[in-house]
Order: sequence, then structure tokens, then C-alpha cells
Amino acid sequence: MSETNPLLEEQFQIPFDQIRAEHVEPAITELLTRAKKQLDELVSAPGPRTWQNTMEALDHFADPLEYAFGIVKHLESVATTPELRAAFNKAQPEVSAFFSSLPLNDALWRAVRTYSETDQAKALTGTRRRFLTKTVDNFRRHGAELDPAGKKKLEAMDVELTTITTKFGENVLDSTNSWELTIDDEGNLAGLPPSAVDAARASAASKGRSGWRFTLQGPSYVALMTYLDNREIRREAYLAQTTRATTGEHDNRPILARILELRRAKAALLGFEDFADFVLVDRMAHKGAHAEEFLASLREKTEAAFESENRELEAFAGAKLDPWDVGYYAEKQRKELYDFDEEELRPYFPLESVVRGMFEIVGRLYGVRVVERTGVPAWDSAVKYYEIRDERTDALYGAFYTDWYPRENKRGGAWMDSLITGLIHGDIWHPHAGLICGNLTPPVGDKPALLTHRDVETIFHEFGHLLHHCLSQVEVRSLAGTSVAWDFVELPSQIMENWCWEREALDLFARHYETGERIPEELFRKMLRARNFRAANAQMRQLSFGFVDLALHRHYDPAGDGDAVAYSREILQRFSASPLPPNHAMIASFTHLFANPVGYGAGYYSYKWAEVLDADAFSRFRHEGIFNRRTGMEFRTRILQRGDSEDPAELYRSFMGRDPDPNALLERNGLLTQ
Ligand SMILES: [Zn+2]
Repeated sequence: MSETNPLLEEQFQIPFDQIRAEHVEPAITELLTRAKKQLDELVSAPGPRTWQNTMEALDHFADPLEYAFGIVKHLESVATTPELRAAFNKAQPEVSAFFSSLPLNDALWRAVRTYSETDQAKALTGTRRRFLTKTVDNFRRHGAELDPAGKKKLEAMDVELTTITTKFGENVLDSTNSWELTIDDEGNLAGLPPSAVDAARASAASKGRSGWRFTLQGPSYVALMTYLDNREIRREAYLAQTTRATTGEHDNRPILARILELRRAKAALLGFEDFADFVLVDRMAHKGAHAEEFLASLREKTEAAFESENRELEAFAGAKLDPWDVGYYAEKQRKELYDFDEEELRPYFPLESVVRGMFEIVGRLYGVRVVERTGVPAWDSAVKYYEIRDERTDALYGAFYTDWYPRENKRGGAWMDSLITGLIHGDIWHPHAGLICGNLTPPVGDKPALLTHRDVETIFHEFGHLLHHCLSQVEVRSLAGTSVAWDFVELPSQIMENWCWEREALDLFARHYETGERIPEELFRKMLRARNFRAANAQMRQLSFGFVDLALHRHYDPAGDGDAVAYSREILQRFSASPLPPNHAMIASFTHLFANPVGYGAGYYSYKWAEVLDADAFSRFRHEGIFNRRTGMEFRTRILQRGDSEDPAELYRSFMGRDPDPNALLERNGLLTQ
């Protein structure tokens, strides 16, 4: 050996400055071999099955592989090179095939089942009990107890689902791209903002054409529907958008029918009532019926405000509106009512001061100190490194990197990721490590980076995920930190956003970068009022998607209900402010639900579910004080520290003393009293 491979040895301060693309392949190959060997040792352990030789071994056998692969994946997203990308793309299929083969591994299943039948297993409590139960359930949900014919059937269904859901997504992409509209007469551009006109001009030029080219891609389509005065063109674009993937070679209608059929059959084969119950069994909602009741109660409380918003808009427009008119008139109404320009807030949000204020807030609430440390190796000179320590004992809970600005070698968006999951070993606490990344507006000239309010919320959001990871105190690694149910994971992140709307919190960090003055009261009030403009319509739209999703995965029966597109249209109509056209087929391009074997299928309700959780949990801070240490410590010890060590519904109750109450969300949206 000439040189040690930095990916082979787990180190708390990751030597990012030493890791190179050529380390990836040998390290991953070696660590896969070691993980397989560990797995063999687990299944062939001599003597009786114990917690240690079965569950603890299962929890840790692949730690070094996950550590190394996590770093590689992270570097590929923040500091990619052609060599690194090639090495990552080569390693990835092998690593994911290895992990997805585990629930189908018969010998491993026998080891777990044998252990689960021991007296020791039967006496387990708390986190250990939960880990065993979840592991056994997970094997069963992957067909571990089916007979050989059943297993074959399940495998064939999964293969077909993977293929046709991929095809579903491709059809949406292709049919989206196949539509375009070029405007040659400048007069027809009336209403569009200059940025949209410039983009359309550039789009036409990129195709070697004159005029202004529009497509169904998000920014282009939204600009047309929001601003364009020409109603006929808006209508044409709307009809194209809502009939995508319904004709010719891109027709998703037969695929949609088949996906629903396969999902029904799969749920039945595994002993579930329907696909929603199969998907939700390990989520906070547990049952499709529960998720549906949740949506229904929100709908009931939103309807009156929805109708009055629609009446007000029609009165404003002076006409009955079609779907291609709604966004257009709503924008005109918004301007007339608020005249609020989000850019006015930017000077009050210099990045450094936002981040410092955020650390101050969590310090007050959770009894921690966040301290920057310099001289730690990172992947880019723009990266900063911080430690989260106990304010009194100075104990290190975890450390994290921040990387806020865009670069050419970095992917878009904002995200949090974990690098090391800490745990107690012997008596020694090994801390967590993680990161948060964004793509915020970088500083220009000698001005600091000035953020939008949405950017500020994003930073708080990702830091909430990071705290969930770094403050975790769970003895089972697989249940630690953010490894929680899908409809629970956004609670720690979304709740943080609430502090960005509180005067007292904003005054800590929102200071004009030149004058140091606070956000003027009038601007603050405009910002609050604009937040809830047409909130009922926004909510009904999300509810309609949640309802159609659950209806298709719980109630829809092709024999009695006929065509799934017409069935879905009929449901969506009940939530629409205006009559949907007869060929409306939005469901045929709904990739959230159908472009993955599971994806958001039967899970679309989670968006609203998570909003209810964060609004409701934050109501305790509102009542008891947004900097109340006791409330903060309870949130920390009952939610943030607990990961998935207990049923999330129990964790929630332990903090709130009751089940979630949707009224807090309605109140925040300004929908409670109307
Ligand atoms: Zn999130």
C-alpha cells in the first residue's frame, strides 16, 4: 500500500481536502466486501440469537460503507468534476442494489425472525422494541413471508411498476416539451413583465427563430397565465397544460390504469386493504381513512373562505371566470390590494446577520451554543464549519458545514444532509456531523449577500432539519435523527420558519445593512397581509390533490367507476373555482403520484399534514413566548432528541398533550374567523 485511502477510515473531521475521485472505486469496492462479510457473520453467528449478534449487528454492519458513500454522494453534489461524477455513477448502482437486496435476504430474515421469537426479544421495551417491530414489519412488507409463488408474483409486479412509472414520467416530460407557442406580433405580449419577454425572446433565439417563444416549462407557463392580457393565448396554453400525456405515443391513460391495478394487487397480495393502507402503515397517519378524515376536516373549514375569495375575485373581474382567467385576475387583484414588492425587504436580510440571529434564537430556546471554527478542511473555501455545544457543560452534540452560494460544480436547491450519526459507545458520546447547503443570491461588489424573505425561511427550514439530526439522542442508529416517518419529518424544519414571521424574532436579526434600522412597521404589516392573499384557494388546491390521490388509491374501482381520468376530473371539479373543460386530464401528468413505484402515491396529504403539525406545535410557543426556554427544552427533549425512537403520534402528544389540531393552521392562514 503506497497511500491510505481517506474514505476507508471514519474520521469525525472528514479530510475533504484529501479525498479525490480515484479513491472512490477502491474504497467502495472494499467497503462493500466488508459489509457483505459482516452480513455473513451476522447470519451465521454461533450460539443463540441475541440483541447484540442480531439487531445491533444489523444496525451497524454497513456503517463504514454508508459513511464513505455518503461523503462521495455529497461531494458529487457540491464539488463535482467529470472524474468524480463518473466514479459516483459507477459506484451508485452497486451500493443501492446491495441495500435494496436486504429485505429480500432470506437468511437475514430467518435470523431476525428467530431472534424475535426468543424470550429476550419478547421482553424488549422502548426503542429496542420499536426497532425489532419495525424491522419485522419491513421484511413482511417486502414479502418475506410469502410462499415462493407469491414472492415471484411480487417481484414481477415490482419490476413492472418500476418500468411503467418511469415511462409515465418520460411521457410527461416528452409531451411537455412537444408543445410550444411562438408569438410574432409584439402587441400580443401585452401584460408580461420585461423579464418574461426577455426570456421568451432568448428562447426563440436559441431555436434560431425570431419572435417570442413560450413553453409549458414552469417559469414560461406561469408568466403566461399570470400576466398575459391575451385571453385566447392563455386559454390555449391552459388546455395544452391540462391535456399533456393523453395522445399518441405519449398517452399515459392506459399506463395510469395499469399502475393503479398493480398497486391494488400488490397491497392485496401483502394482506392490506388497499394501497393507501400499505403505504401509510409506518407513517404517522397509519391508515388511508385517517388521512382522508384529516383532509375532509380541513376542507370543511376552508370552504366558506374559498367561496368568498372566489366571489370577490369575480366581482373584481366583473365576469364569470374560466380556469385560464383565475391566475390573471388574481394577480391584478393582489397588486391593487397590497402593492407589496418582496424586493423591498432584501436590505434588511444580510446573510451573516440572519445566520447569527438564527443561532441566537436556538440558543435561547434549546440551551445550546453554536460556534464557528476555522481551519477545518472543507470542499470549498466558501464553506464554514460550526459546532453545537451545550451552553453549560460545553459538551459537543454535533458539528456542521454550511455552503450557501451557487457554484458551477454544485447542484441547485437547498438541502440538509447527515454525514455522521452520533451515538453512545461504551460511556463515550460520539457526536453527529451534518451539513446545510443553499443557492442564495451571492454578495455583489462590497455589498453583503442580501436575501429575500423566502431565502431566510429556507435557511431556518434547513437548520431545523439539521438540529433534528445533531440533537438526536437515540441508541439505535437506524431510528436516529431525521430517519422518521415521511409525514413527520418536516415538523422540525417547518416549525423554524415561524420565527421568520414574528416581530420579536425579526428584530434580532433583520437590520438594514447600511442604517441598522429595523423593518419599518408598515412594510412588516404589508408582508403579513400579502402572506394570506387567497390562502383558501391555495389550500383547496392542495386538498384537491390529496383527495384525488387517496380516492384513486382507496376507492376507485375501474369496474364501477370507469375511466380514471374522468373519475379524477369529477373529484377535482368539486375543488375548483371555475368549471374544468371536458377534456381536462391533469391526472395523466401528475408525476408526484405516478412517476415512481411509490413516490407521493397515497402520500400527497403529507404536505398539509406537516403544515398542521408545525402551525399547531408553534402555537405553544406563541402562547408561552417565542423565546420561552421551558417550551423550547420540551420541544428539544420530546421531539428533536427522539428521532424515530417512538411512534411520532406519541412524540407529538408528549409535546402538545393532545393530537394535532388543524385550527392553528387555519388561524395562521387567516382562515379561522371567516
Ligand atoms: Zn424540509
